[in-house]
Amino acid sequence: MIEISGLTKVYGQTTVLDGIDFTVADGEIAAVVGPSGAGKSTLARCINLLERPTAGSVVVGGRDLAALSGRELRRARREIGTVFQSANLLRRLTAAQNVALPMRHRGLEDAEVRRRVGDLLERVDMLHRANHFPSQLSGGQRQRIGIARGLALRPSVLLADEATSGLDPESTRSILGLLTGLRDELGVTLLVITHEMDVVRGIADQVAQLDHGRIVEHGSVVDVVRRS
Ligand code: ADP
Ligand code: ADP
Repeated sequence: MIEISGLTKVYGQTTVLDGIDFTVADGEIAAVVGPSGAGKSTLARCINLLERPTAGSVVVGGRDLAALSGRELRRARREIGTVFQSANLLRRLTAAQNVALPMRHRGLEDAEVRRRVGDLLERVDMLHRANHFPSQLSGGQRQRIGIARGLALRPSVLLADEATSGLDPESTRSILGLLTGLRDELGVTLLVITHEMDVVRGIADQVAQLDHGRIVEHGSVVDVVRRS
């Protein structure tokens, strides 16, 4: 479960997030939508701990991430896998090597890394592209690799930050189908952050609409679409 309360982020004089409250239950698919500049990426970075909140808490699996440091913080970070916009793969590494990277950093044994990489590539239906470089893959395929890498350390939460932006409608549908399937099969909690309401229409259990750093609408997809 993710429990965000009073989450606030201030840069200098600018309040980018202003008291965000948001709870996602285990295994749920939740979405945060909003226009450019609303604070979505900042929210994502406060959740995956690339950024420290100015105030408030982000509780994942019972621990307040904002209060941790050192080894505890590194451990907590593994609870949350991130899928970035345009996948953000290292272009000099193959698909398999990109997926392996978080495990190698963790110091997992070679045999374990190979086993897990194979398993993950199979899950995202990319085993046949294991030795391809990112430049040899389509946008949708790169995003599949990005998803496999996001799952490498077996997180309980997968955060998809604009993961389908720039993909054509068919690739977008296919990535969303994959994410939904992963929730069903692995039980991961999914938090989808996007500027496109259409992306979440078919899949999200709940939607929060962010504007100027505040949640201005919150409810089921049907509620939020009707009111916006
Ligand atoms: P979104 O992802 O919804 O487009 P962002 O979180 O990127 O929104 O940005 C929200 C607001 O915060 C923007 O006005 C942006 O200029 C500002 N902002 C983001 N990062 C910083 C930063 N490091 N320093 C100052 N302002 C920032
Ligand atoms: P094992 O520990 O034998 O790998 P598990 O029951 O833990 O088996 O998981 C079953 C399969 O699902 C394994 O292949 C594992 O890699 C994968 N898996 C389970 N949970 C996750 C997760 N959160 N992210 C990625 N893969 C996962």
